[in-house]
Amino acid sequence: MADESSALPIDGAGLMALETRLRENQEYLCWPGKAWIPERKVDGETVTDVAIIGGGMCGMVAWMAMRAAGIERIRILDRSAEGFEGPWLTYARMETLRSPKQLTGPSFGYGTLTFQAWFRAQFGTEAWNKLDKIPRPMWMDYLRWYRKALSVPVENNVSLDLIEPAGDLLRLHLSGAQSGTILVRKLIMATGRDGTGVPNIPAFVKGVSKSRWAHSSDPIDFAALKGKRVTVVGVGASAVDNSAEALEHGAVEVRHLIRRAEMPTINKLMGVGSFGFTAGYGELPDEWRWRIMNYSFVTQTPSPRGSTLRVSRHKNAHFHFGCGVEKVEEAGDALRVHVSGGREIETDFLILGTGFITDPMARSEFGDAVNDIALWRDAYRPPQGEENRDLGSFPYLNTDFTFREKVPGNAPWLANVYCFNYGATASLGKVSGDIPGVSEGADWLTKALAARLYSEDIARHWNDLQAYDTPELLGDEWAASDLPKTAGLAGKVA
Ligand SMILES: Cc1cc2nc3c(=O)[nH]c(=O)nc-3n(C[C@H](O)[C@H](O)[C@H](O)COP(=O)(O)OP(=O)(O)OC[C@H]3O[C@@H](n4cnc5c(N)ncnc54)[C@H](O)[C@@H]3O)c2cc1C
Repeated sequence: MADESSALPIDGAGLMALETRLRENQEYLCWPGKAWIPERKVDGETVTDVAIIGGGMCGMVAWMAMRAAGIERIRILDRSAEGFEGPWLTYARMETLRSPKQLTGPSFGYGTLTFQAWFRAQFGTEAWNKLDKIPRPMWMDYLRWYRKALSVPVENNVSLDLIEPAGDLLRLHLSGAQSGTILVRKLIMATGRDGTGVPNIPAFVKGVSKSRWAHSSDPIDFAALKGKRVTVVGVGASAVDNSAEALEHGAVEVRHLIRRAEMPTINKLMGVGSFGFTAGYGELPDEWRWRIMNYSFVTQTPSPRGSTLRVSRHKNAHFHFGCGVEKVEEAGDALRVHVSGGREIETDFLILGTGFITDPMARSEFGDAVNDIALWRDAYRPPQGEENRDLGSFPYLNTDFTFREKVPGNAPWLANVYCFNYGATASLGKVSGDIPGVSEGADWLTKALAARLYSEDIARHWNDLQAYDTPELLGDEWAASDLPKTAGLAGKVA
């Protein structure tokens, strides 16, 4: 529990009462929905209807939505240890979330499942009113409660290593706490911020000993940076959070090397976020989707105000703009960093706050088939002035979150794989990554998925329709009679 929360008096009975209300809500809304998908077996093996990879926020809300829709044979697998899904307690290093505390996040229309309900049940309304931003570890506490309150059956320490087509099914190769393979009909990749990509490692660290640098998503021994000179590449949220950690652990100086000339200060997409954007973005023509996302990428998201102040309150923190890193070389016990404009600095440790690249080609789960996935650069040529290599590497998805083939016919099974992670942003907007739009995303995903499952089984559903023979009327509710030659004429009753 975060310091801020543990300082508050916890009302355990309040949380139990909330859970009782949640169960009531579930009853009122008839959750889970009625099962309707015919069971399939292949050589005695029961086929899992849906496998969700990732038991973080997106995976759990997708599960919640699917259970509401009567989809029951679901496996939800995560390679991390229980309670450590997602970045929150591993490499996220901010004190508080950027997202406002009122966001309803993965609550899926249940007021009793919101962060607000969870917080107020334990700490009261006065504490809620006083709360500014959500302390990061507290958000993980909330997600742990969400999992427990809903009994989300996440299977931890299980990694999806490879997806293979198996007729109209998929065979998933697993390792970790469960090894072997499972057969599934549909696969949801709820794999997070780098779920369709990898950390962005610039070429300038190639050949430099890994003991001298780290990406912001790596585990970093900050205590070892005490008394050291630290250089941070970039000034985005993660760059700034890592810088703050280094400063607070006694780094003697921290220099941000920032390629751009000025600090981005306006969070464009957050500012104009609306239900219209959530619902409408995915339906826009390519030109508009590209234009909006390119603009958002180019204007960049600023680091949060609180996180930036957390750095700048230290006199030994420096923000150097217009400083692109050109080369890094080892120089005795230190690193020499060559910066644009013929400048050079010496540092003891380099942290890459360079974010993630979204590019399915960088993921191993698809094996060789990764070359069959259509990307934006295969599907759309932007006008002059709007070129963007990073955006071009995003998968070019169907409107139901499924991957498309680059060449139709080469890997039709990709249409059974749903990209419910940050990688869907270019195609479908902000509904499968950040906290604000995930319930809408889960709803959208589930409707599309249920429609596919239903239409694939249409012959079986048609048979069921014809075979269904449970009467609603038992025959004792009416009596048949002959129609006389004249009835009801001139108001006469026959
Ligand atoms: C440093 C940082 C700070 C952030 N701060 C915010 C914020 O303040 N507000 C906000 O809205 N968003 C924030 N985000 C975005 C954040 O990632 C999402 O809001 C949230 O984590 C998304 O949930 P998710 O379920 O999509 O992904 P995650 O929470 O990352 O969960 C994905 C899960 O997939 C599992 N997984 C991945 N691949 C496999 C595999 N092959 N096999 C098995 N399991 C696998 C992982 O173990 C992980 O637990 C932040 C992201 C980062 C990196």
